[in-house]
Amino acid sequence: MSVDATRMVFDFAEGSREQVDLLGGKGANLAEMTRLGLPVPPGFTITTDACRHYLARGEEPQSLRIQVTMALRRLEDQLGRRLGDVVDPLLVSVRSGAKFSMPGMMETVLNVGLNDYSVKGLAEAAKDERFAWDSYRRLLQMFGRTVLDIPGERFESRLDDAKKRAGVSADVELSVAHLQELVETFKGIIAEETGREFPQDPREQLDLAMLAVFDSWNTDRARIYRRRERIPQDLGTAVNICAMVFGNLGESSGTGVCFTRDPASGKLGVYGDYLVNAQGEDVVAGIRNTLTLEDFARLDPDSHGELTRIMRRLETHYRDLCDIEFTVERGKLWMLQTRVGKRTAAAAFRIATQLVDEHLITQDEALVRVTGHQLSQLMFPQFDPDEAGRTLLTKGMAASPGAAVGEVVFDSATAVQRAAEGRDVLLVRRETTPDDLEGMIAATGVLTSRGGKTSHAAVVARGMGRTCVCGAEAIDVDTAGKVLRVGDTVIAEGEVLSIDGATGEVFAGKLRVVPSPVVTYLESGLDAALEGVDEEGADLVRSVDRLLRHADRTRRLMVRANADTADDAGHARRMGAQGIGLCRTEHMFLGERRSLVERLILADGAEEREAALAELLPLQRADFVALLEAMDGLPATIRLLDPPLHEFLPDRTELAVKVAVAQANGAADPADERLLAAVERLHESNPMLGLRGVRLGLVVPGLFAMQVRAICEAAAERAAAGGTPRVEIMVPLVGSVMELHLVRDEIDSIVADVARGLDVPIGTMIELPRAALTAKRIAEAADFFSFGTNDLTQTTWGFSRDDVEASIFATYLDKGVFTVSPFESLDRDGVGALVRMAVESGRATRPDIKLGVCGEHGGDPESVHFFHDAGVDYVSCSPFRVPVARLEAGRAALFAEQRSTPG
Ligand code: PEP
Ligand code: MG
Repeated sequence: MSVDATRMVFDFAEGSREQVDLLGGKGANLAEMTRLGLPVPPGFTITTDACRHYLARGEEPQSLRIQVTMALRRLEDQLGRRLGDVVDPLLVSVRSGAKFSMPGMMETVLNVGLNDYSVKGLAEAAKDERFAWDSYRRLLQMFGRTVLDIPGERFESRLDDAKKRAGVSADVELSVAHLQELVETFKGIIAEETGREFPQDPREQLDLAMLAVFDSWNTDRARIYRRRERIPQDLGTAVNICAMVFGNLGESSGTGVCFTRDPASGKLGVYGDYLVNAQGEDVVAGIRNTLTLEDFARLDPDSHGELTRIMRRLETHYRDLCDIEFTVERGKLWMLQTRVGKRTAAAAFRIATQLVDEHLITQDEALVRVTGHQLSQLMFPQFDPDEAGRTLLTKGMAASPGAAVGEVVFDSATAVQRAAEGRDVLLVRRETTPDDLEGMIAATGVLTSRGGKTSHAAVVARGMGRTCVCGAEAIDVDTAGKVLRVGDTVIAEGEVLSIDGATGEVFAGKLRVVPSPVVTYLESGLDAALEGVDEEGADLVRSVDRLLRHADRTRRLMVRANADTADDAGHARRMGAQGIGLCRTEHMFLGERRSLVERLILADGAEEREAALAELLPLQRADFVALLEAMDGLPATIRLLDPPLHEFLPDRTELAVKVAVAQANGAADPADERLLAAVERLHESNPMLGLRGVRLGLVVPGLFAMQVRAICEAAAERAAAGGTPRVEIMVPLVGSVMELHLVRDEIDSIVADVARGLDVPIGTMIELPRAALTAKRIAEAADFFSFGTNDLTQTTWGFSRDDVEASIFATYLDKGVFTVSPFESLDRDGVGALVRMAVESGRATRPDIKLGVCGEHGGDPESVHFFHDAGVDYVSCSPFRVPVARLEAGRAALFAEQRSTPG
C-alpha cells in the first residue's frame, strides 16, 4: 500500500495505548480511555505518518482530506450536529500530540467551527450569549496567533484595553457588547496582518489548524526542547480533533488538571488544580490562581466523586501515576487527556516502591521506572536546615526539588547570557511561557509568582530536573523595572536569592548547602542516612536503598571506579565500586615530585636516569601500598604512565622568555638553558598523538620498569602484611600487538622477580582504532582489555578532545550532526562498532579475556546500556557516578531480557 492509500485517520473508538508511535501519546491515551468506557468527547486522530509526509514534502498526502471528511462526517452523525452549523453547531478542538509529551511546545486551537453565523447558533443552543461571543473571541485570538502567526500581544493588548475601558479586571466580567466589539477588532487585526479576512468556512479553519499543528513540530522552541530531552527530531506529531466541551459555561463549569499521586514529592494521595468557568489551557498556563481538589469537592461533589473513581480506575489500568486533564460542562464531567505523568526524581523512586508494596508492579518493573539520571539528581546538595540567620522572604509552591542559589534575572536572554559567563542565575518571572525555555535551561532555578504545580514553569522544570518554586504570590515581579518586591524588600537584577524547590521557600542571599540524605546513605549506610531526616526523606532513602539493591541483584555488569588515590578508592568502595578500573598514575608525578621527573628527562646518560628513577621508586611504592590497602580484596587496575612528558616540564613560552631575559642581562642560568633545550626537544605540535602511552615506555628506558617494580613491591608488601592485593597492570595507547609484546616481556620478568606467587594480570587499553581493528592479535598478549573510550572517540572521529567541545559542538548540536556530545554518551554507530568488534575478536583469541570500560562513558546511563549489550564484563567511572552505573546496569539487564522474551 502506498503512503497515500494507508489509513491516516483513526476514530478514538478504534485505537489503543499501544499505538503511541502512530497516534501520539495524547491520541493513543484518548483511544484507551474511550475503550475503557470513560466519558471522553468523541473525535479522531490524524497520524504521525501524515505529519511526517507533510513535513518531508511540504504538502499533505492526497487522500488525507478525504479521510478527514469521512471521520468528520462520522463524528457529526454520532452527535447529530454539524461543524459550524448555524443551529447548535459542532465545534472541535485541534490539538497536537507527539509520541513523547512536549508540554507547551506545540499548538492547540480551540472552538474551531465558529464564525459570524454559528456564533449565534451557539449562543442559542447554550442559552448564553456572553459565552458564545467569548468563545468566538478566543478562536480568533488563538487562530490568529498559532495558525496565522500574528504576534499574540496584538490581541492581548486590545483585550487589556477593552477591560480597562469597561473598568473590569477579569475576562469573565466583559459584557456581550464588549466581546462583540472585540471580535470585530480581532477580525480587523487578522485582515490587516494577513491581507485577507478570517476564514469563515469551518472546514477551512479545521484544515488550516491541522497544518499549523504539523508546522509547530519544527518551531525553534520545539527543536530546542527535543534536543535537550533527546527526543528524535523526525518523529512528527499526531493531531487530535475532538468535539468541544466547555468549561466556560458559567459557575457549574470548569476545567482542571489532576494527578493520582503527588508528582512533586511522591506523597500518597491525589493532587490537582481546578479553575471555575474557564477553558482549555487556562490551568496549565498558570494565568489565574487555582482551587484545590478539596474545593472542587465542595463545589461539585458529583463531578468530584466521578473524577475520583476515574483516577483510581486509570491508575489501576496503567499501574502508574497518571496525570489527567478534565472539563466539567454544566455539571457533566469529561476527560480530555491522560498519560503516565511526569514526576520528580524523588517522586519516581517513592512511587515505584509504593506500587511494589501495593502489589501493582513487580520489583523489576519498579527498577525500570527509575533512571540513573534521576538518582544523580537526588545526589545534589540541599540547604543546611541548621544554618543560622536565614532570611525567609516568602514561600511559594514546591514545584521541582533541589537547592538553587543564583543571581536574579528577569528575562530569558539575560539568563542565557550570564550563564554563558559562568554565573549561576535564577530566572524570576511572573509566569513562564514556552518562550522562556532557553532561560530555564540556562538557569540553576526558576521562581514564578503565579501559577500552580501544574503551570508551565512547574511542568517544564520538573521534566528537566531544574529547581523550581512557583506561585509565590507575595512576590511582585516587575520585569520592565528589573526588580522584585516582597513586602518592603526590593531585590534588583544581579542580587542573590536562594530557593528551595522541595519546600517552596525563598530566601534572601546565598544559603549554605549540605549533602543530600541519599548521598549520606550511599556514603555511610541506611542507618546514618535515616538519622534526623523527616518522614518523607526517610521514605525516599529507603526507596533508593531497595531499588539500588535490586539493581545489584539483577545486573550482570560489574561496576568499578576510576580512582587515583587511596582516598578516592575508599570513597569509591563506599559508593559500591567492585574494584578500581583505572588508576591514572600521572598525578603521582606532579607537585614536589616534578623536580625528579625533570631530572629524569634531563638525565645525561643511563646513570643519571637510573638515579632519578631510583628516587621515584619508593614514592610510587608508597602510593600503591595505600591504594591496594584501600581496595584490599578487590581488583585494582593500575595504568602505566600515559601523558606526554612535556606536561611535567615548565611552560615553553614562559621559560623561553625567562632564559632570553636572563641572557640579555648577561646572567644566563645553565640549568634553565638545559631545561629549555629539553622542552624544545620534547615539544610536539600534536601531543595527543605523540610521545605518550606505550610509546613513552618504549622510548624512555626504565620508566615503565620502575613503575612495574613499585607496583609489584607494593603488592608483595601488602601480601606479607596479610592483605589480599589484586593488582592488574595496564598498558595505555597500544596500537600494535608488537608494542604490547615488548613491554610485556619486561613486565613479566619484573613480576616473576618481585611478585612471585601473586597473580598479576597484564592487559591493555583499547583506545585507538587500530587496537580495535587488530584486537584479535592484541589479545594474544593481553589478559584483559579496557576500552579507553575517551581516546577512542577522539581518534575515531579525529576530534581533539580538549578543543572541539568549545569550538565545534555547539554548531554540531544545533545542526543535528549529533544530539549529544560523543564524549558524553557513546557514539554507538561509530565508536560502538569498534568496541563490539574488539569484544568479539578479543574473545575469539582468548575466551576468558576480561573486558572493561574506563572512559567517561562508563558512568553515562545510555552508554552503560550499550556496554551491557556489547557484552563487556565491567564499567568503570568516577566514584560519584558508581551508584548511577549500578542502577543503570540493573536496568540494562532487564531491558535486554525484555527484548529477548517475545511478546
Ligand atoms: C580514555 O582514553 O578513555 C582513558 C580512560 O584514558 P585517559 O582519559 O586518561 O586518556
Ligand atoms: Mg586514554
